[in-house]
Amino acid sequence: MSKKAEKVVIIGSGCSGLTAALYTARAQLEPIVLTGAMPGGLLTTTSIVENFPGWPEGIDGTELMINLQQQAERFGAQVKFGSKVESVDLSSRPFNLIVDGDEMKAQTLIVATGAGHRHLGLESEKKFDKKGVTYCATCDGALPMFRDQPLVVVGGGDSACEEATYLTRFASKVYLIHRRDELRASKVMAERALANEKIEPVWNSEITEILGGAEEMVSGVSLKNNKNGKESKLDCAGVFIAIGHTPNTQIFQGQLDMDDSGYILRDEGSRTNVEGVFVAGDCSDNVYRQAITASGMGCAAGIDAERLLASENQ
Ligand code: NAP
Repeated sequence: MSKKAEKVVIIGSGCSGLTAALYTARAQLEPIVLTGAMPGGLLTTTSIVENFPGWPEGIDGTELMINLQQQAERFGAQVKFGSKVESVDLSSRPFNLIVDGDEMKAQTLIVATGAGHRHLGLESEKKFDKKGVTYCATCDGALPMFRDQPLVVVGGGDSACEEATYLTRFASKVYLIHRRDELRASKVMAERALANEKIEPVWNSEITEILGGAEEMVSGVSLKNNKNGKESKLDCAGVFIAIGHTPNTQIFQGQLDMDDSGYILRDEGSRTNVEGVFVAGDCSDNVYRQAITASGMGCAAGIDAERLLASENQ
């Protein structure tokens, strides 16, 4: 027997996915939220979120996401934790999804799959993953192996500045390695990082190798100055990589239109090239990438899905 089609299936449970869930739940569409491997999305790897409107003292990233999840559930959203979408077939409606080996059908689909951490692409980065190489200071910074040790943060954006500043709580010193001589980060974050006595910026420099010591743990990095070609080494116990993100859109390749970097294209609202598929958040936003803009896009996608279903049921 063919399965009943859900009215709304949302892939992703960050700010965009859960806000879409809130809106479609309030429209009594009983949305299903498939969280993927990271319930709550990337915000759960942040400490205090200081720029989400309505929280004058800031709010812990995980707490914000739990609040948002509970708010959506209160109106009937069903959040399926850990569920992984293996493939999608968007060639006809209802759409077919394979979720943890089972088939699921969806009249409308909201893609809110977010973005994952970008990698340096070094072999030694893979080799020392979780042995001193990490992509999340708030997750790993307090580990005993990093306490009172010199640490390296790579990148020049808000994430790198935020992580470097956070790590000064534990580290003896933090080297902020950036490939240019000017930070990309917002003024407030950049100034906060550069004013911190424990942070030493290393300009115009790229990591060429992550070095290991005893017990195959990180012991340092080799650097190359890309202005004068000079090579050097820094001792450190950890390498925190904060060089941006890649959209999680691989399973939609060939079905949804994307730009060259894999961000899903949409019209002025949330509509994609496939009718009934809407998109929200970082998987479609290479410009703002903020919690509040992701939430706004999730709201728009929820409303767009609701309006499409209402127009079809008239
Ligand atoms: P980002 O703004 O894209 O910055 C990435 C940084 O990594 C850039 O400085 C870039 O260098 C560098 N980079 C990229 N690829 C590299 C490579 N292969 N090797 C070495 N360096 C490389 O990413 P983000 O810092 O993660 O921020 C993403 C968004 O989230 C932004 O909109 C940001 O404002 C927001 N955010 C906000 C907060 C907050 O407000 N609390 C915190 C974190 C992030 P170039 O500068 O030379 O390109």
